[in-house]
Amino acid sequence: MVDFSINEHDQKVLDEVDRMKAVIDEKYTRYYDIHEEEIAPDVLPEAKDWVHLPKMQMERMGQPGVTKPATYSMMSSIENCLGTGVLGLNQRMGGLGNAALMAQGTKEQQEKWGGQLLAMAITEPSCGSDSKAIETTAHLDGDEWVLNGEKIFVTDGIRAKGMVVWATLDKSKGRGAIKSFIVMKGTPGFDLAKKEHKLGIRCSDTAAFVLKDCRIPRSDLLGGKEAIAEKQGGDFKGLMATFNMTRPGVGAGGTGMIKHAAKIVIAELKKEGVEVDWEQGPAKRSALQDKLIDLEAQIESSALTVYRASWLADTGKPNNLESSIAKAKGGDVSRYGGQLAVELLGTVGITEDHLAEKDWRDARITDIYEGTGEINHLIIARALLSYGSADLM
Ligand SMILES: Cc1cc2nc3c(=O)[nH]c(=O)nc-3n(C[C@H](O)[C@H](O)[C@H](O)COP(=O)(O)OP(=O)(O)OC[C@H]3O[C@@H](n4cnc5c(N)ncnc54)[C@H](O)[C@@H]3O)c2cc1C
Repeated sequence: MVDFSINEHDQKVLDEVDRMKAVIDEKYTRYYDIHEEEIAPDVLPEAKDWVHLPKMQMERMGQPGVTKPATYSMMSSIENCLGTGVLGLNQRMGGLGNAALMAQGTKEQQEKWGGQLLAMAITEPSCGSDSKAIETTAHLDGDEWVLNGEKIFVTDGIRAKGMVVWATLDKSKGRGAIKSFIVMKGTPGFDLAKKEHKLGIRCSDTAAFVLKDCRIPRSDLLGGKEAIAEKQGGDFKGLMATFNMTRPGVGAGGTGMIKHAAKIVIAELKKEGVEVDWEQGPAKRSALQDKLIDLEAQIESSALTVYRASWLADTGKPNNLESSIAKAKGGDVSRYGGQLAVELLGTVGITEDHLAEKDWRDARITDIYEGTGEINHLIIARALLSYGSADLM
């Protein structure tokens, strides 16, 4: 049975998150939006005495009677993203590279790097959605891998201690030759090219890197499998599976941002005497009230797709289709809901008097990284039609 129930203890924690978030909103949200050149601390001063949500989730894994961990994690992500975009409470356990390390790394690799923030570097100037087209190369020279290439738009690029870099051992061999490598900062030949200046999620540092004859130990190939897979797929399939758990997280983030914008809209319209009176029925509602209902319904339906994908993960069931649905829906709601929220606020909607305009800008990313909306729609179509990537591109 599908179960999204939350126990009393966990609800109290989420209420506490809401309270903490009000403090963060007031002190830091706009600050790090305006001061994009500054990197927010890993843990915001106020948050260090608060319950550490990701740690709490890890400690509760498998315990009886607790809200299912992945589902709970998404619920807290939605709350955590309210208003601050990805700044949230800044209580993360790791970056996207850490997710790949946990999914693909050997036990020794997980022990060696698990405690450090790792980014994930796939995208290149000539390859984005089609990640199998990467041109960064890796070849063995004695007991070292030598990497050459360019990586762009790396989230956490500045603050991460290192990153999981995708490279091909032999471009002519397709997906089976794509491997990932751990490259730590300070390795000669691994250089920061630039930090991006962005429309939204400015508190998140995004950077570009160059790898020029960058040498790393042979043991730093993630997962340790050096052979090129004969069947198309190999490690690549496993690497892509990392996204089955992170895509609902991106959907949750976007949903949270729009939920925050909606909260502002509801509060502002209330001041003007506009509230949804459910007793009145549709015939007596104004167009404005109908739009508010639409906005809330979109947010709720987006949250439900996120919960479904994470509930499947909690119960050990495949969630490839559902995680792409959650990501695509989160992207749709981020664009449509963000636009609607700003519109409902009228002219003040685009001023810095409110954070709604920031939510709108921040949420735009939901439909871009970890697979654009179009790509996730493609994955959904393939899954529903039982097509492979060669049948539907
Ligand atoms: C702020 C930010 C952070 C990022 N963080 C990371 C990160 O940490 N690591 C990383 O590796 N990358 C990261 N990225 C890169 C991101 O994953 C890519 O931007 C994304 O994969 C799209 O690639 P692209 O920009 O090259 O667009 P393209 O692939 O060139 O696509 C351009 C447009 O065409 C559409 N399109 C492409 N192929 C198809 C198709 N087959 N059918 C229909 N439409 C299609 C796309 O949806 C898009 O609208 C980040 C990007 C941003 C903006």
